[in-house]
Amino acid sequence: MPPTHPLATLAVSPQGAQVLAPLPLPLHVPPSLAATPSAQVYPGALKDFLPSLWRENEGLIFALAVGAVVRLIAPLLQNKATDPAVVVVDLAGKWALCLSGGHQGQGDRLTEWVAEQLGAEAILSGAGQTLGYVPLDTLGEPWGWRRGAGDWTGISAALARGEVVQVIQEGGDPLWQKHLPPEQPLSFESDGQKPGGRLWITPRSAALEPGDRPQAYWHPRLLWAGVGCTRGAGADFLAESLEAVLAQFGLAQAALAGLASLDLKADEAGLLELAARLALPFQTFAPEVLKAIPVPNPSEAVNQEVGTPSVAEAAAIASAAPYGYRKLRVAKQIYKAGAEACTWAIALAEREFNPHPGALWLVGSGPGALDQLTVAARSALKQAQVWIGYGLYLDLLAPLRRPGQIVEAYPITQERQRCQRAIELAQRGLNVAVISSGDCGVYGMAGLVLEELQQQGWDGKTPAVEVFPGITALQAAAAKVGAPLMHDFCSISLSDLLTPREKILLRLEAAAQADFVTALYNPQSQTRVQLIRDCQTIFLRWRAPETPVVLARSVYRDGEQITCTTLAQLLTHPIDMLTVVLIGNGATRRYQDLLITPRGY
Ligand code: SAH
Repeated sequence: MPPTHPLATLAVSPQGAQVLAPLPLPLHVPPSLAATPSAQVYPGALKDFLPSLWRENEGLIFALAVGAVVRLIAPLLQNKATDPAVVVVDLAGKWALCLSGGHQGQGDRLTEWVAEQLGAEAILSGAGQTLGYVPLDTLGEPWGWRRGAGDWTGISAALARGEVVQVIQEGGDPLWQKHLPPEQPLSFESDGQKPGGRLWITPRSAALEPGDRPQAYWHPRLLWAGVGCTRGAGADFLAESLEAVLAQFGLAQAALAGLASLDLKADEAGLLELAARLALPFQTFAPEVLKAIPVPNPSEAVNQEVGTPSVAEAAAIASAAPYGYRKLRVAKQIYKAGAEACTWAIALAEREFNPHPGALWLVGSGPGALDQLTVAARSALKQAQVWIGYGLYLDLLAPLRRPGQIVEAYPITQERQRCQRAIELAQRGLNVAVISSGDCGVYGMAGLVLEELQQQGWDGKTPAVEVFPGITALQAAAAKVGAPLMHDFCSISLSDLLTPREKILLRLEAAAQADFVTALYNPQSQTRVQLIRDCQTIFLRWRAPETPVVLARSVYRDGEQITCTTLAQLLTHPIDMLTVVLIGNGATRRYQDLLITPRGY
């Protein structure tokens, strides 16, 4: 999934069209390349056609010389906030260069996505990339915060100059603060030192303090506005009164999470239109629900009329409740204009409303080396906002981390807590990668996450679940010794933590008898040494002592060790939990340092 859309690609040569072809995006070509499959032909010169693409897209990807692209876009560049991101790919498809960022770091992410799709190297020159700090102008996106007013360029410039930016977070999830790179030039205290800029995270509106330092605002969606109105009140009147109440109390419209009222108002045209204009959810409550909520300004007259003494205050509180109602930030305010009248009240919630549905990406990170990771898994890891997994695997993936990602490592025994935490963060709207080595669905975390979701009554949709397969230890070990898995094979874990010993013995017996090539996972730990002995005894009943056996330790990791031995000699070598064991079948033979299991052609 590209990080932004709509997107378009452009090529003017057959090589260029070929390089861009793998991207699942519209490809524009000149009439001379009309034969290019599924390309759209633009009429005339590219410089005349480009302005329309420039206006209509969030990002443009060129397969053209950088100089040519610079000349083409120079007359179109206006400002960082509205220009599309521009990515240039060379004609050999080796590099993807982020030429111009577009807003909110989109250029960098788009470039990385393009590079991953094409198997190219991304070239990024932005300060956030080279200095490795969290880009502040995208900080709140994962949480659904809205970017508010401020001098974002000034803040970036201060960081680039090496100055400290002070962060004042008055609301919204502070989890990101615990996952900053060590050198992050942010300060969370006002320690007398004059900062190079100030970043506010607050439901309050930008009260830009006078001064020479740049300031900028993020607004977590913490405010729930309750509203009551006369039948037929117009959207303009409602919008103006809401603006007035927000202004009076110094609150940001961007911090609004939703509008709420009484059931009777569910079809009130003005309210529906206002909600649509502000792109806010609008919900209504039954009078019995509202009646039960204690409010500061109940009205007996309202009670007589609609069956609850409060509409605005009670609806505001009721709508904030699922996010942890904190307090009524604005008690009932009445507005009138001619025959139109309305009341507003605004509740503040503990946790922000995040409109993103959240996702769980169950990622197999492969055996170890990063080049054994699939392109899809790599892309998911880049895009994920959270990584959850066992510490060792997260360390192996460290070079792929991008500043700002939340990384939670868990010890090996806390699998269930790990899954619950992942689900919780996905339910808050984040894209969470749950990482297992090898394949996530082979003695990994995928099954446990799905079981846990099922237990919670998951609807199968939210959070969305996607599995990214990985190369298993079994495949990695096999690859190191040629072709031992050419015929039927199975894998058996010798860990009796979750499987009764008797069952393991039964499976070993069955595999041995049925002549499966057999992979043993978790073969031996410091305390569990008997099962591998039992396994050898069982296999020796069905297979020759000289049956080839491979002990593959830390495959595709530092300290990799591949030992080819025999069933009889199996126990004379060290075996531990970083090892996977392959036992050949009756026909497997050794040739040089390799194993061949004949298919029988
Ligand atoms: N999900 C993983 C398996 C995890 S179980 C997969 O798909 O391969 C953990 C066991 O896997 C270890 O005890 C060891 O037997 C094996 N293992 C995992 N990575 C390995 C590696 N790089 N080299 C050898 N064995 C490995």
